[in-house]
Parts: sequence; C-alpha cells; structure tokens
Amino acid sequence: MSQTEETAYDHVIEQIEEATKLIEIDPIIKDLLKTPKRVVHVSFPVERDDGSTTLFQAYRSQHSDALGPYKGGLRFHPEVDLEETKALSMWMSFKCALVEIPQGGGKGGVVCDPNELSEREVRRVSRAFMEAMGDVVGPTQDIMAPDVNTNPTIMGYMMDTYSKRQSGFIPGIITGKPLILGGSEGRSQATAQGAVYLIERMLQDSNMEASSTSIAIQGFGNGGQIAAKLLYDLGFKVVAVSDSKTALYDQNGLDIPKAQEAKEGGDLASYGEDDCMSSPDDLLYVETDILIPAALDGVIHEDNVKQINAQLIVELANGPTTPAAEKVLVEQGIRVIPDILANSGGVIVSYLETVQNQMNYYWEEEEILKQLKGRIVTSYEKVVHHVETYETSYRTAAMILAIERLQEGMVARGWV
Ligand code: NAD
Repeated sequence: MSQTEETAYDHVIEQIEEATKLIEIDPIIKDLLKTPKRVVHVSFPVERDDGSTTLFQAYRSQHSDALGPYKGGLRFHPEVDLEETKALSMWMSFKCALVEIPQGGGKGGVVCDPNELSEREVRRVSRAFMEAMGDVVGPTQDIMAPDVNTNPTIMGYMMDTYSKRQSGFIPGIITGKPLILGGSEGRSQATAQGAVYLIERMLQDSNMEASSTSIAIQGFGNGGQIAAKLLYDLGFKVVAVSDSKTALYDQNGLDIPKAQEAKEGGDLASYGEDDCMSSPDDLLYVETDILIPAALDGVIHEDNVKQINAQLIVELANGPTTPAAEKVLVEQGIRVIPDILANSGGVIVSYLETVQNQMNYYWEEEEILKQLKGRIVTSYEKVVHHVETYETSYRTAAMILAIERLQEGMVARGWV
C-alpha cells in the first residue's frame, strides 16, 4: 500500500471523478459506477488434516453486469478485505469495457494463508468456497479466474465442484483452467504478452529500437518474469528485475534466462552478488526508458514519486501508481500506461477461453495471440485518440472510453 491511509477503493473513486469531469454523464450512472451491484460475504467450515475444523470467510464483489456477466479473479490471501475486493471488481468493469469484452467486473477472495494449508486443505477450501458461492456465480452470471495465490489447479477443482452441483460439464464457470479441462492456449503468458505488444506499438511511434531501450521490472512472478523473458528475447535491454527480497541491476542488460534459473533455484540473489542492489525498492529509482511495476499496488506514491527516473511507466500490476503520484508524473511529462489497458491481456485471453468453452472448439496458440494483439493494440490506439481529444492523461482517457461504453450499455438496457 501507499504511505498514506488511502485505499484502492479511494483511488478508483478518484479516477472516476477525474474522468467524469470531462464528459457528460447522468448522475445516476455515476452513482452506479461508484457502487458494486452486489457484494456477497460467505463463511464455510473446512475440515483440516488434523481433524479440527476452521471457519473460512470469503467475499465476491459484483460491480457491473451492464455489458455482460461479471468477470474477474479470485485470490487466496490473509489480507483479503471487502474494500479492496470492491475496488478490484470496479477496475475489472472498466478494463472489460475498455478492451470491448462483453463482460462485466467482479472480484473475490478467500481470507486464508495458502502457505499454512496443505494441498489437500487447499482442495477442500476450493470446493467449499464454490459450494458456498454456487448460487451467485455461473457462465451467464459471474465467471471467475485465478488471481494472487490461486492457479489452474484450483480453477480445476472449482470447475469440478460447480459442474457436479449443476449435474453437467460446465467449463465456462471459470477461466485459467488446465488445458485438459477447457483452458486456453496462451493464457499463462497473456498478461505479459499483452503489455509487450503495447510496448512494441509505442516504440513504433517514438522511432526507438529495442536494443537501445532500457527496461526495469519490479516483480518476478507470473506477470514480471514472463514480461522480462519476452522483452529479453525481442532484444530489449532489461537492466533491472526484482522480487520481494532482491533487485538485480546491470546497466548493460541482465541475462534473463540466468535470472530465471536463479529464481527457480529459490534465490534471485544467486545471479551474482555484484549485480544485487542494496534494497529491492531501489529498482523503482534506476534510470531507465521504461519502468514496469508488476508486483504490488500503491508502490509509486506521493513520497517517492520524485525519485522515479523513467520516461514511460507500464502498469502490469493493478493500481501501482496512486492518483497523487500520477499527477506529479504527468506534470513531468512521464507517460503512465494504466493498468486497465496495460494488463488487460489476461482478461482478453480469459474471454477467449470462455468463447472456446461455449463453442466446445479450441484454437491454436497462434490464433489466440493474433486476437490478443489485435484487441489490445486497437484499444491503445483508441486511448491515444482520447488523450489528444481531451488533452488528458492515458488513464483518464482510458477511463473515459470505458465509462462511455458502460453508460451506453446502461442506457440501452433502460436502467436510466
Ligand atoms: P505473482 O505472485 O506471480 O508475482 C508477484 C511478484 O512480485 C513476485 O515475484 C514477488 O516476489 C514480487 N514482489 C512482492 N513484493 C515485492 C516488492 N516489495 N518488491 C519487488 N517485488 C515484489 O503475481 P502476478 O500474477 O505476477 O501479479 C502481480 C500483479 O499483476 C498483481 O497486481 C496482479 O493483480 C497483477 N495482474 C496479474 C495478472 C496475471 O495474469 N498474472 C493479470 C492482471 C493483473
């Protein structure tokens, strides 16, 4: 989180306010945008391996289904709370609307520490969660997906429980599933790949070469590590990467396969002592053309924004830049490609997974990546057009595009 007491929910409300200053909007629609349509809190008992029972709490926030069923991830984390879940569901509505996916915004979480659960307990928690939520989710109601600490294996258990509950085979209840259960080719790299397509597109506009473009990436997990490897393979100079314990830096460019080996071995620092920075946070301040925050929310805030030394920020994480910090960056002429565009590759391919589940016919990876590239680059070009039209930031332009589509959908449905 940021240094202030502001929450992700405060930030999304501020972003809505910024965008709606520039367009005509019905006040009721503005209220609808600021309020999730339904918030569900469930509790369920799960038998532990030692024979005891623990009562788990879980939330699902369903923000807007104006343009299609709610859609969004489900996380397992001890700090899951309702306010953050609501904010994340709101960003999902804006993300889906921006990239023109016929789905809405949802998000959920189970309050638990997966490090303290055995594999069998994770399976029981997954099944019990789906039993408890089963009435309010479904392929035409609310489609879930993996998020922090959840993965294809957990999605498989949940799909199985939902299917049994409905007496059928219903892969469309959830995305990010194992391929054998109707998962999609290309899903695991989709988020990073989408951001890489955007970076390549932006390079075209600035007449820059990959080999002379430096990139620093905070976070070496699903998003950050895959982005680092894709960019390295394209010839970019990835000068810094970090995880929660270590930041590596080499101004001539890191050897990313070697960093991946070090990470797989359990310690990114084993890459080489000379390349380790004194603290992981130092990564944010290295001089670089592009900075990719791909770890946590609120990492670029009022107190550290002046130390940022990048020309372009591509938000692979959700909510890494606070609104106050973004104002400073924009004043300094630093472009921020907002999360709802930059990390939309994940939800674009999740949507393609749903389409394949509905058709019961599956595409090759080449087809998936072609559709991903087309959709994300087209959305970027529309955002650029709005940046020029409204003389505003990329985030506000993206929010305006999303809000315009949501407003059109709500009006067409006769909600106002
Ligand atoms: P992950 O858990 O796989 O990876 C997170 C990485 O961040 C890990 O390497 C961790 O060590 C590192 N990290 C944690 N604290 C850090 C710190 N203080 N400094 C530096 N690194 C730190 O998670 P992920 O799936 O890569 O998600 C990261 C972000 O991207 C989240 O905000 C998530 O919501 C967002 N996101 C992910 C996807 C996806 O498909 N994976 C899609 C959309 C958005």
